[in-house]
Amino acid sequence: CGIVGYVGDKESAPILVSGLKKLEYRGYDSAGVAVVNRNVLNVVRATGKLRNLENRVQNDLPQGTIGIGHTRWATHGRPSDENAHPHTYGGVAVVHNGIIENHLALKEELRAKGHHFSSETDSEVFAHLISDELKSGLDLPAAVRAAITHVKGTYALAVVTTSDPNRIVCTKDSSPMVLGLGQGQNFVASDVPALLEHTRDFVYMEEGDLAVVTAASVDIYNRSGQKVNRPTRRIDWTP
Ligand code: GLU
Repeated sequence: CGIVGYVGDKESAPILVSGLKKLEYRGYDSAGVAVVNRNVLNVVRATGKLRNLENRVQNDLPQGTIGIGHTRWATHGRPSDENAHPHTYGGVAVVHNGIIENHLALKEELRAKGHHFSSETDSEVFAHLISDELKSGLDLPAAVRAAITHVKGTYALAVVTTSDPNRIVCTKDSSPMVLGLGQGQNFVASDVPALLEHTRDFVYMEEGDLAVVTAASVDIYNRSGQKVNRPTRRIDWTP
């Protein structure tokens, strides 16, 4: 339902939780963050109010200056800690808004290859597909691009991995995703209000776009893999 991502020089978890709070109005049943610290992936999730996630994050701060967060509105699998995003597999963490229509068939194919699933969600297949593509030798942007070719449905997706720990890759089809531009830090979100306390400069991703976001750069590629320039918009309003 709500997505926030951060890469920069600050601790990411508090920024992610505060961004998710700005999206609370959209409704949700659970929430979580995944933070990368070199080769360590720290995941904290909690059912119910964001306050529950915030308490867990404050009690034991997952450290790392890059991360992704999510508030979930369950479509496949009941609301629970296990079904809350981020979903992880093989050092890959994903947050997903939308619905993967062919998730049952994909899970069967992946199980046949030896994969085990730890949630009932459709979204978890993204982590498995991307992990397999990384293992086959692709870099993270190419792995995400390859993974989505298997998927039928709608998505706004943000991905981080320990094997490529300095960038967030995100992509969208039929679900909204924006990029927030900062100084020495950049952001991704499903909606502008999540980021207005940090930046006023936004890029709206278009259908099929894939973005590679580091602390210093934001690069966008269209569905055919060509690098594209999307306009930066200055947001003057306050919610
Ligand atoms: N279909 C996914 C799930 O049920 C994502 C739901 C959402 O957009 O929050 O976990």
